[in-house]
Amino acid sequence: MLPSTPRIESDWYHPRNTYPSLSTHCRWRFSAPRGRVLTMPTDLRLPTHKIVRPDKDRFLNEENPFEAMMSRFDRAAELLDLEPGIYRVLRNPEKQIIVSVPIQLDSGDVEVFTGYRVLYNTSRGPAKGGIRFDLQVTLEEVKALAAWMTWKCAVVSIPFGGSKGGVVCDPLKMSVGELERLTRRYTAGIIATLGPDSDVPAPDVNTNERVMAWIMDTYSMHVGHTTTAVVTGKPVEMGGSLGRREATGRGCMIVTKEALQHLGMPVKGATVAVQGFGNVGSITAQLLQSEGCKITAIGDRSGAVHNAAGIDIEDAIRYVKGHKSLEGYTKGDVLTNDELLTLDVDVLVPAALENVITSKNAGKVRAKVICEGANGPTTAGADAILDEKGIFVIPDILANAGGVTVSYFEWVQDRGGYFWSEDTVNDRLRDIMTRSFRDVLGLSRQHKVNMRTAAYMLAISRVSTVHRLRGIYA
Ligand code: NAD
Repeated sequence: MLPSTPRIESDWYHPRNTYPSLSTHCRWRFSAPRGRVLTMPTDLRLPTHKIVRPDKDRFLNEENPFEAMMSRFDRAAELLDLEPGIYRVLRNPEKQIIVSVPIQLDSGDVEVFTGYRVLYNTSRGPAKGGIRFDLQVTLEEVKALAAWMTWKCAVVSIPFGGSKGGVVCDPLKMSVGELERLTRRYTAGIIATLGPDSDVPAPDVNTNERVMAWIMDTYSMHVGHTTTAVVTGKPVEMGGSLGRREATGRGCMIVTKEALQHLGMPVKGATVAVQGFGNVGSITAQLLQSEGCKITAIGDRSGAVHNAAGIDIEDAIRYVKGHKSLEGYTKGDVLTNDELLTLDVDVLVPAALENVITSKNAGKVRAKVICEGANGPTTAGADAILDEKGIFVIPDILANAGGVTVSYFEWVQDRGGYFWSEDTVNDRLRDIMTRSFRDVLGLSRQHKVNMRTAAYMLAISRVSTVHRLRGIYA
């Protein structure tokens, strides 16, 4: 039986209090494992109203990204007994921008692209979120990704809200000059919301350090001075942070080790399968191998490779650098990506795409731990099946938050004008990821919910607390 309200230790709490006064310094206390007590700002409370989502029928598609987000959000909000007013605030994006982006092509023709930027919630700080260039970009997807960023930043407790952006285009068919003109015109289109104190983009699908450099330059030209902190994921030479490239994989490694230790499973010799061998997948595999794990399967868009004796990840990375993919890699048996997901391993790391573990294949997954390196690899329909099988899932909003955490470090370094060593970056990342894992685990044990629901509860409680403290403007 799930408790509907958490235990409250508060000196001001009263069921009739809906909003604390600004001078109130009450704290939430959560019982945490091993005698630790987590304290959080006042929150989570009380009212008994049930949440009614009038347009629920619009969100029935298992693979709709906004549905994936909202169904988890709803469950956590219900367990928190979130007041309907705050619920309504949190389920709507603050700002949705659609811009036409006209550029001159190399041929001399003018083409007009569509660009989006969604600021989902900025109550805890400037919006933070990547920009993707892709033909599949839709407003619905950008909205869901912006919401995810909001919860992710709150789970690791960095002072950002969430945003996301995208331009509908096929960057593979565009020249570098066309991409630069597209980036600069899109930046000019959304410039009113951009800024180190308001909205800070980062790379995402098909955008990279170079695109961030163009955004930084365009913004700086508009405001009349160099502003490095307006984007993260920049080249190190112009204000980027050491350790950013490896940060997401390093975060995955840290929380995977925490999960294994929590479950009483040895890290050394733990078998691991990794789907996706790009930035997140290859670095997670490399770092887990250096911790003593045995990586028995890796895969990318060309297919997968299995070797029960373990794959040499450095060797596979060298191969992919030379051949662009794992195609033709012969140091193991060939597998399909679907087969990789159902291998009998200790840890599965889906680090490629969304919606790969669904209600259709979740029953066949045999891993004991899933570390979600990708955003949204598991559909809401698969959650209950994985729970029933007792699989310990480290949810995306926790597992891959290492990237945005080091983006935060980059923003801090740019604003301070003082740059840290890679060891400092890695140490601080480890502290934040470890603390966040334990915070989520503590809530999950206290409320007897899975790690995903606990992560959403933690995130929603942090964001809603700030809304209560700030009140509704005007
Ligand atoms: P990437 O482009 O570097 O790598 C993606 C990998 O997935 C490639 O190896 C590609 O071949 C593989 N892939 C593509 N389609 C596939 C398919 N159908 N089946 C199997 N593999 C396939 O991207 P990345 O930066 O590693 O990001 C991977 C995921 O992690 C994405 O969901 C991304 O949103 C998420 N993520 C990335 C970061 C980051 O810092 N890079 C941070 C948070 C979340």
